[in-house]
Amino acid sequence: MAPIKNHFDYLVIGGGSGGLASARRASSLYGAKAAIIESGRLGGTCVNVGCVPKKVSWYAATIQETLNEAKGYGFDIEQKGFDFKAFKEKRDAYITRLNGIYSRNLNNDKVTYIPGRARFISKTEVEVDDHTPEGQKLGTKSVYTADKILIATGGYPIVPKDVPGAEYGITSDGFFELDYLPKKVALVGAGYIAVELAGIFQALGVETHLFIRYDTFLRSFDPMIQEVMTSQYEKVGMHIHRRSKQTKIEKDESGKLAIHYEDSNGSGVLSDVDELLWAIGRNPEVGDLGLEAAGIEQNTRGHIIADEYQNTNVENIYSLGDVVGKLELTPVAIAAGRRLSDRLFGGQPNAKLDYGGVPSVVFAHPEVGSIGLTEPEARQKYGDENIKIYKTSFIAMYYAMLEHKGPTSYKLVCMGPEEKVVGLHILGLGSGEILQGFGVAMKLGATKKDFDSCVAIHPTSAEELVTMR
Ligand code: FAD
Ligand code: NDP
Repeated sequence: MAPIKNHFDYLVIGGGSGGLASARRASSLYGAKAAIIESGRLGGTCVNVGCVPKKVSWYAATIQETLNEAKGYGFDIEQKGFDFKAFKEKRDAYITRLNGIYSRNLNNDKVTYIPGRARFISKTEVEVDDHTPEGQKLGTKSVYTADKILIATGGYPIVPKDVPGAEYGITSDGFFELDYLPKKVALVGAGYIAVELAGIFQALGVETHLFIRYDTFLRSFDPMIQEVMTSQYEKVGMHIHRRSKQTKIEKDESGKLAIHYEDSNGSGVLSDVDELLWAIGRNPEVGDLGLEAAGIEQNTRGHIIADEYQNTNVENIYSLGDVVGKLELTPVAIAAGRRLSDRLFGGQPNAKLDYGGVPSVVFAHPEVGSIGLTEPEARQKYGDENIKIYKTSFIAMYYAMLEHKGPTSYKLVCMGPEEKVVGLHILGLGSGEILQGFGVAMKLGATKKDFDSCVAIHPTSAEELVTMR
């Protein structure tokens, strides 16, 4: 029997977006005796190697774009350089500040913070390999029990096993460790991370090669987004290797990489590459979690299976966030975590997250925003005869003074005689900030007529969304 001090109402494994949100709500709002076990830095992927340092890097890239364009507005600017190392140090310091804030928040909310690596030894017991908060192993183990246990252990980036020399490449985690700006990079992948990080490199003036398996990237997005963004990246000089696959990676004595590949043009070698970055998806972080000791079921990709209330197949064990692999976004993990605590400790037996209509943004250049169904999804779900599409493409006013023109493309997917907006897809400057309000409108079931009833804000790009014909 574990000592009584090691028993909690709520034991959360993983101090990332979902775990922190759930534990804090359970303790601060509902008075549950909660603890959080974290083996890395508090804040998880988003804060340490995800959304936050990525967005800061995106801002840096966007500033570079603005500097390049300033001449068009008459500014006589000579850029002396970009001190990447200083930028990186400042970005790291910001993250360290955030880690401290997360730690203080746990303290304020009376959540016990247990640094260490957790694994199940039974359905009710979790053993922790004790660490210091800095990650140093203490060589001791502790056992904790709880009435309810949440698994929110997130995921890790995949490195291919079938490409010889793949280990010479980095992943998004390594991107945030770079303390120099490479001259030539190659990225493999076609999702959010590949498109965001390739966009940052390209905007910062790095020779950027993106290897994709098909003809477009962001293939889970509306075809309009796929086509316009893929051709836009090419237009600004990115090298897109379509229908490609890597056969071997070599590293020479100076540390430069050679990427052997096949693509639609045959086989080739890309030499003198400073960094290769794999961005081909993420796996759930469950390898050493002892799921079998608790009898917790996983799907074929290893994700923990959780129902719409975040219940696993084992009573009193719950799971959410990236480790369940449903929608790998920070606000999704946070919202699911809070709803779960509302249900378990807040007397709200029906509380659960609605996974439908979740807005998301790809911080590309320009940004891409999407809510709801793509056009093909809507046609398949409701039938062609019930779908009406409104779309527009134009040059935003910002470019009026510039020789270089960036794209803006918007699409509304409307359903039924009332033309309920079931899909909204936008790309162009400011899309990230535009999208949130439209997300609210769509949650309220807005129709095309509702959109049109809102008077436009002029001059903006977003006004086109309420004036489409
Ligand atoms: P995590 O945040 O990954 O937290 C899991 C925690 O569990 C980790 O801290 C880990 O150390 C800990 N852990 C794992 N196993 C154990 C164990 N056995 N014992 C103890 N602790 C353990 N999402 C967005 O919404 N917007 C973005 O702009 C965005 N950008 C991203 C950019 C990148 C490069 C990446 C990689 C992701 C990005 N995401 C973004 C996704 C977002 O980061 C994740 O969806 C989110 O962090 C998931 O939260 P989580 O709580 O499920 O897991
Ligand atoms: P994704 O799963 O989004 O994309 C990976 C893509 O890479 C696949 O869809 C696939 O596209 C391609 N791919 C897979 N295997 C290979 C391979 N062997 N060779 C070449 N390409 C391959 O994963 P990411 O790693 O980009 O991101 C993980 C998740 O993190 C995202 O899904 C998102 O939920 C979240 N995230 C969110 C962000 C945001 O909100 N802004 C930013 C970053 C991440 P294809 O089939 O077309 O080849």
